[in-house]
Amino acid sequence: MSRWHKNKQSAVTSVSNTDNFSQAVLNWFAVNGRKDLPWQQKTGAYSIWISEIMLQQTQVDTVIPYFRRFMQQFPDVNSLANAPLDSVLQHWSGLGYYARARNLHRAAQVLCEQHEGQLPQNLEALCALPGIGRSTAGAILALAFEQRQSILDGNVKRVLCRYYAISQWSGQSAVTKQLWELADKHTPMQQVAAYTQAMMDMGATVCSRSRPHCDLCPLATGCQALAQDIIKNCPAPKPRKPLPERQTRMLMLQTLGSGDILLSQREQQGIWGGLWSFPECPAEQTAEHWCAQHLGITINKPDKKHYWPVRQHCFTHFRLNIEPVHILLDATESQKITDLLVTQGNSLWYHPQQEAHFGLAAPVAKLIQQLK
Ligand code: SF4
Repeated sequence: MSRWHKNKQSAVTSVSNTDNFSQAVLNWFAVNGRKDLPWQQKTGAYSIWISEIMLQQTQVDTVIPYFRRFMQQFPDVNSLANAPLDSVLQHWSGLGYYARARNLHRAAQVLCEQHEGQLPQNLEALCALPGIGRSTAGAILALAFEQRQSILDGNVKRVLCRYYAISQWSGQSAVTKQLWELADKHTPMQQVAAYTQAMMDMGATVCSRSRPHCDLCPLATGCQALAQDIIKNCPAPKPRKPLPERQTRMLMLQTLGSGDILLSQREQQGIWGGLWSFPECPAEQTAEHWCAQHLGITINKPDKKHYWPVRQHCFTHFRLNIEPVHILLDATESQKITDLLVTQGNSLWYHPQQEAHFGLAAPVAKLIQQLK
């Protein structure tokens, strides 16, 4: 029986130092909370840390298979710190927000250098690690070490905003400050791990963004947004400007005989940092001109059928319109590219049927699938 199941017996009896809010949340968790998530079966701060980073921006159901594969490959801080970044990115491929993977890798190295491979048990030291903010640090301390620390992720913000009928955008600094105070006020002295998990679960499954199930909510009797019928306004969405659009052309250079395609590693900084991708040509330049200028090869002007339909990839701060161009190379052209780029080490020939041992950006992985 995991410790999450054991909470069932203790939560339903009143816990001292809890207020009505936290007691109601704990009682709800004892019956309805998620207790069989893979990171709840493994004790230890490492698995909690990995899951918390994966769960930033990503839903539980998506995270589960990634978490399992990641833990199998990197079962502890040392194995993560000593792994090549390419391998870490490969296990992150498809989860998005790759800075999270780069930060995990770097943080694991810092833990080995400065903390004997262990996650520190205090907020300040955790927050000093790459990729760990106050809420993630609070979650690690509460879930792994049962320390009384509050969290304020997107789900908790939404529950608190609705319970207190706070209708401003939760990212405003005064609102964030108020929410941290409320989060702290309701965090109980005991059963803090169960309470923390409960708040995350409540926000994800009951007080969901678009369709809250107030009839199932343990906080319904005190919820001010429900009483005032203003749930849809709480909290206000982030004010958004229309996202700018950028254009690029991805050159899918493929050898005629073997079917290998050329991939190059991107700079560590910037979008898809450290991942492998097709060479990119600015939209205002033709593919044949780019190939002559950067690869020293002469290719025939691609005709319409070589230009695949434009697809759009959304980042948080812009939309990228990608126009893939499929270019077949003869042996002489491939050899020139090998001599010029592949021998340098940051480009390679990759066969679409091969298993990739490095990270691929999601649109690149999809294009490779189509090339198969
Ligand atoms: S009563 Fe409804 S709006 Fe209020 S906290 Fe519960 S689910 Fe959210």
